[in-house]
Amino acid sequence: MALLEVKDLRTSFHTEDGIVGAVDGVSFSLEKGETLGIVGESGSGKSVTCLTIMGLNAKRNTVSSGEALWKGKNLLDMKPRELRDVRGNEISMIFQDPMTSLNPVQTIGNQLIEAVQLHRDVSQRVARARAVELLKAVGIPRAEGRIDDYPHQFSGGMRQRVMIAMALINDPDLLIADEPTTALDVTTQAQIINLMKRLQEDFGSAIIFITHDLGVVAETADDVLVMYAARVVEHADVDQLFGRPQHPYTWGLMGSLPRLETDLDRLIQIPGQPPSLLRPPAGCRFHPRCPHVMEVCKTTVPELVPTQRDPEHLQACHLDEETKDREAAKLLEATMAKAG
Ligand code: SF4
Repeated sequence: MALLEVKDLRTSFHTEDGIVGAVDGVSFSLEKGETLGIVGESGSGKSVTCLTIMGLNAKRNTVSSGEALWKGKNLLDMKPRELRDVRGNEISMIFQDPMTSLNPVQTIGNQLIEAVQLHRDVSQRVARARAVELLKAVGIPRAEGRIDDYPHQFSGGMRQRVMIAMALINDPDLLIADEPTTALDVTTQAQIINLMKRLQEDFGSAIIFITHDLGVVAETADDVLVMYAARVVEHADVDQLFGRPQHPYTWGLMGSLPRLETDLDRLIQIPGQPPSLLRPPAGCRFHPRCPHVMEVCKTTVPELVPTQRDPEHLQACHLDEETKDREAAKLLEATMAKAG
């Protein structure tokens, strides 16, 4: 049984202007110890997918359907108390900005100890020892002393390490990391990514890595889900995705990867803007921005189907496979030329 199996997940927000379909038919599964990268621009639905799985969307105006089977049990049907037990214990989440997740008026130690005692019946002394152990594991120097500091006494990178410690403190089976390095400088980003990879080996947690940066995915993921305008447009293992990408949106993301590691311009540079999810375009939602658009793309939604060569490689595009292979080969050649 998969650790997490998501089937046809849909989430919509009811707003004053109308219904926003933020997640539209997302499916994937995740095994123990595996890393899934979910990549796409802001508003593509990658964060909402994970917030839905975690039951963290505002209840009042949100409607979700489908299944998110956690060890066989649907998270979407769980009672709030049962879900709270899973959250923070079996599944943890790290957000982009640690300052929004850490309480500024409580010491780091108190917050870590509280996280332990919320889920485990242990003494203050045992919980504090666990907190120090985790701070050391994430590379906080002089952890025994720094545990009594407040969040503002840590740098951005160190705060993110504290958040990782907090997320791992109860040995979760799954860690969901939502753009955990975006607010950090390039050097600290690399350190945090290396740290997460090392901790994954030590702790054996599965990870869902949400990012707009395909470079981060290349370094961390086993499997990759590419999302555009609330839908999955490509899903493959990392070697297939980078070796034989099959969707024009993925090509766009790959084409905008920086030339050199020192290049700070990691923003996605696909012409135009993602569509409004209040009134998304008909047919393929990428068609207004796609350089390969055909008439059929404007009216008919391309289904997410396996490629002829690999049943595990899914893509949603009307182009024929020969054209896709040719375009992918051109892109890879150009990327090699850039790198060389
Ligand atoms: Fe482009 Fe058409 Fe493929 Fe959409 S279906 S990505 S518009 S070629």
